[in-house]
Amino acid sequence: MAKILDGRVVRNIIAADLTKKIKKIKTKPKLVIIQVGDLAQSNSYIKQKILFGEKIGAIVELKKLKEDFSQLDLEVMISNFNSDDSIHGIIVQMPIPKDLDKDTIINKIAPEKDVDGLTATNLKLLLENKKGGYTPATTKGILTLLYHYQIPIHGRNITVVGRSSLVGKPTAMALMNLDATVTVCHSKTKKLPHITKNADILIVATGKAKLIKDFHVNKDQVVIDVGINTTTQNKVRPSSGLLEKPESELPKIKLTGDVDFKEVSKIVSAISPVPGGIGPMTVASLFQNLLEAYKQQSK
Ligand code: NDP
Repeated sequence: MAKILDGRVVRNIIAADLTKKIKKIKTKPKLVIIQVGDLAQSNSYIKQKILFGEKIGAIVELKKLKEDFSQLDLEVMISNFNSDDSIHGIIVQMPIPKDLDKDTIINKIAPEKDVDGLTATNLKLLLENKKGGYTPATTKGILTLLYHYQIPIHGRNITVVGRSSLVGKPTAMALMNLDATVTVCHSKTKKLPHITKNADILIVATGKAKLIKDFHVNKDQVVIDVGINTTTQNKVRPSSGLLEKPESELPKIKLTGDVDFKEVSKIVSAISPVPGGIGPMTVASLFQNLLEAYKQQSK
């Protein structure tokens, strides 16, 4: 059985460290989360961020906006937050409604308050391996988890499955900056199992539940599962109406990763679980960025 890379344990260590540091400062770091719409999954991610923020003594404010909130009003709102000295970090919870221009909105956030590290300015600093920017929270979480478990990156063959701007690309870039030899796979990649099997470290961020099976991995490999997929264990017979059923019979939501944990954990040397792997690391990393933003803005 593989060693479990437990994101909750590392998250708790980071929480204790941040709590200690925040206790020592007079004014508190403040994060504003902008949510457009009311997606259940976003609500759950935001709840975790608020709970973590409260636990460490930061201020977290949620601006929940109607689905039809206009692009212009949103841009004005972000500009106002940019010039508000009491706010140190601003994030826009993704996804946002399709009729909003995501790139323009993200880039409206002042780079020094972009604690999700997704503005063009911060991504360019990552691309050029320059200091002074914020690493995207999920990427930072992956690096911190590997670092905590003393898994070397330098000189290793690392395969990243997924090439999104949110996870796959920044993660590949950050690993390259740390001298890994990185291969990036995507939905058009041919012979995926052949490529994944040859990696020392395999990082998967596809949003495809249980995509990675036993034949994708090798026994010496470290596997990082970024995926968060919700599956319903529907206990209700197909013909019945859901609302008429007692709660105990309503569909149960289960979180599944992009890796078939049951199969893969029997083979590889180490694996991060879902839930309890990169999810908690992402939240903790976001608040590490927030404290850094606070320090930079308080100079
Ligand atoms: P996107 O949908 O933006 O990107 C998915 C990527 O996976 C694409 O590059 C796509 O390829 C690739 N892909 C899809 N199917 C396959 C396949 N069969 N074989 C190989 N590659 C494939 O997703 P995100 O990057 O935003 O998120 C990925 C997952 O990570 C999701 O489950 C998301 O919920 C989770 N996530 C978890 C976080 C955490 O904190 N743990 C944070 C952020 C995301 P192509 O480019 O060709 O379409």
